[in-house]
Amino acid sequence: MSRHDHRFRDELRGWLAEHAPPDVEIAATPEEAEVLREWQRTLHTGRWVGINWPVEYGGRGASLTQVAIYNEELAHASAPQILGRAGVSLVGPTLMAHGTAEQRRRWMRRILSGDDIWCQLFSEPDAGSDLTALSTRADKRGGVYVVTGQKVWSSHARFADWGIALVRTNPTAPRHKGISMLAIPMTAKGVDVRPLRQITGESEFNEVFLDGVDIPVEHLIGPENEGWAVAGTTLANERGATFVWKEQVLASLAFDLLSKASARGGRDRDPIARQRLAQAWIEVEIFRLHNGRTLARLARGEELGSESSLVKLFWAGMSQRLYETAVAILGSDALLMPEDERALDRGRWPLGLLASRANSIMGGTSEIQRNIIGERLLALPREPRT
Ligand SMILES: Cc1cc2nc3c(=O)[nH]c(=O)nc-3n(C[C@H](O)[C@H](O)[C@H](O)COP(=O)(O)OP(=O)(O)OC[C@H]3O[C@@H](n4cnc5c(N)ncnc54)[C@H](O)[C@@H]3O)c2cc1C
Repeated sequence: MSRHDHRFRDELRGWLAEHAPPDVEIAATPEEAEVLREWQRTLHTGRWVGINWPVEYGGRGASLTQVAIYNEELAHASAPQILGRAGVSLVGPTLMAHGTAEQRRRWMRRILSGDDIWCQLFSEPDAGSDLTALSTRADKRGGVYVVTGQKVWSSHARFADWGIALVRTNPTAPRHKGISMLAIPMTAKGVDVRPLRQITGESEFNEVFLDGVDIPVEHLIGPENEGWAVAGTTLANERGATFVWKEQVLASLAFDLLSKASARGGRDRDPIARQRLAQAWIEVEIFRLHNGRTLARLARGEELGSESSLVKLFWAGMSQRLYETAVAILGSDALLMPEDERALDRGRWPLGLLASRANSIMGGTSEIQRNIIGERLLALPREPRT
């Protein structure tokens, strides 16, 4: 780590000491969403949002090492994820690669400041793992696309100002050739957002119904009918350096807390519990090594390609097993949800256990990752399509 990196860490630590993060973990209610939007605004005043964006777009042009330091320091300060993370980590990079100068001017600074929160409108009831099956239509009539269809699992859509949507603009072309990407104002006439209640009791996801929504043609991102290639940029950013390092820090912190909680009740003297704790530690370390390799490759300017599937698959299983171990060895108090005052560590263990079920689904399911590893890394034969 260079002297420059040490200075970067000191600057961020100093800033965090003066700007305490709010005690809100996720945006489950409009009030919590407002607190998180305000936190993003505060971070932005210190230029601490989108630090890896180029300086010309309001970022710091931060290196991979600095992104790693940033995620470590924010995790150690118990800072929540920013509300506008889809905008910062997905939409911004997509606009940099495919947007027009006018689109970048209009949207990019407001993404960083939290003035505009974006959501991702890709998945549909019949198009998740296979997104090319999407059926939301956008028919061009004069200067507008008329959009009709349904999206689902759209994180934070009810607090979002904009959505990036994949829509079908040519229904007769081969499936992946008739798709386009549009920016949809979530307050437009014909947009109806309905929250979905999750296993944790929270409502991060939403269904989004689009009924004859008029979208000006200037909101097309990238060329018409080439939205599949444009979405490639968006999806590649979903598993980039920021994801890898943030999850790495969170897994280490969760393990440290688990080992302290088991020591408190003397549970770590039980030989079975000790073996499970050792196994959890080994897995967190393996994850760290996977991530070290990923960052080294990115630093050399290499593409992550199919190997990112190995890391995603390992992370999903590791995080689920970590919480299974926690509730298995910490006893019944570790099963109480946050609203119960007897809950251990404010209910983080059962919440983590339930929330981590999503890790093997989001950003490509574990079955899909195994397909990619089998076909592209191991060159196993593909199953013939029926
Ligand atoms: C926490 C979280 C946040 C999300 N946020 C968003 C968001 O903001 N915006 C958005 O657009 N989407 C979002 N999603 C949706 C996510 O992208 C999809 O859930 C995911 O792509 C899987 O699609 P699906 O749920 O339709 O499952 P399906 O694709 O219907 O899969 C069902 C089952 O079949 C298996 N399967 C499917 N195809 C194959 C195959 N070829 N080989 C083997 N097995 C297969 C899957 O692994 C799975 O077990 C989010 C999901 C989660 C969990």
